[in-house]
Amino acid sequence: MIPVTKPFLPSEKEFTNYIKSIWERQWLTNNGPLVNTLELGLKEYLKVDHLLFVSNGTVALQLAIKALNLSGEVITTPFSFVATTSVIVWQGCKPVFVDIDPDTFNIDPYKIEAAITSKTSAILATHVFGNPCAIELIQQIADKHNLKVIYDAAHCFGTRYKNKSIFAYGDITTTSFHSTKLFHTIEGGAVFTKDSALLKKMALMRNFGYSGIDTFSEQGINAKNCEFHAAMGLCNLKHIDDILKMRKYLSEQYLDRLVNLRVQFQKIQANDDYNYAYFPILFESESLMQQAKANLEMAQIYCRRYFYPSLSELPYVENVEMPVSKSVASRILCLPLYHTLTVSDLDMICRLLLRGQNFNENQVQKVHQTEKPAPHHPISNRKPTVKVNGSL
Ligand SMILES: *Cc1c(COP(=O)(O)O)cnc(C)c1O
Repeated sequence: MIPVTKPFLPSEKEFTNYIKSIWERQWLTNNGPLVNTLELGLKEYLKVDHLLFVSNGTVALQLAIKALNLSGEVITTPFSFVATTSVIVWQGCKPVFVDIDPDTFNIDPYKIEAAITSKTSAILATHVFGNPCAIELIQQIADKHNLKVIYDAAHCFGTRYKNKSIFAYGDITTTSFHSTKLFHTIEGGAVFTKDSALLKKMALMRNFGYSGIDTFSEQGINAKNCEFHAAMGLCNLKHIDDILKMRKYLSEQYLDRLVNLRVQFQKIQANDDYNYAYFPILFESESLMQQAKANLEMAQIYCRRYFYPSLSELPYVENVEMPVSKSVASRILCLPLYHTLTVSDLDMICRLLLRGQNFNENQVQKVHQTEKPAPHHPISNRKPTVKVNGSL
């Protein structure tokens, strides 16, 4: 069985060494030494000024919205994981969707201004599959209209943009360290900001608003994380370069083999340090996607429809037409990608996809002998470049 992803696991020994130290100290949670060490390690690795380790990526978004005091309307993308929209509603704001760019799958910056009203307080955008949004354009619009910017960077560990971690942008950036993400702490997440007042506010909010024994200076919640999750993070941080290299290598193998498959690849914003968190392919129609998915499932290969449905179709939001998001959501499929995926499994996945396409084309040709075949359009600026050799 080949799943869409498998969590990275360090050796049991690495993990139990940390667990032993927790037993020795008997300090399980509440800003313990492993949580502190992980926060420092992450700051160093990512080269960011500040971050707070929190219990998950969803509460990270909630903290961000609360800390910025957002109200009224929040402009957001309909193409993301459900939490990006659900937290806006949960925090009592109204999500206002702006359609996505059909090539990058990120919010279309040229459609944002038309959605701004007197009630708009912020833009909450997702760097979809680790691909940076149009950061400069979004900031210009935000400055012009006095809006806050939050980035949901749940897919972005390891992605850098203009020589900085992608986590360094916006008023606040949030991320998730859930097991399905490239870097994980089993459950976990983080918030990032350059603004020290905001950081302090979120640090208090993360711990019930406690500012000293029996004093609460801020409305807070429990968004803390604990020593056990920090232990997993500390183990995984030691392997992160290896994980990133492997993702890149496997993605390049996919691209090499699939250049002639009639699908579109995500256009990655010019960037040297892209993290290859996912391998999405966009079919020409929903039925071609469904056929490919079914073919792979017959061979026990399980891909996922990330992200389906388009969030503009959720039952608890105002229904608005988002044609690009709806269309991309209906045709997209994420192929298996994880640290221990073997090249021979990857080969088989690619062969099945290509064979399925040839079969379909033969069927079509039998019916319409005279029709021209549809044009090839693998759109990608991810050139299959350097190969990683050696131990991989
Ligand atoms: C995973 C994810 C989240 C939620 O993170 P959790 O840690 O699972 O709460 C939010 N947004 C996006 C885009 C995600 O992929």
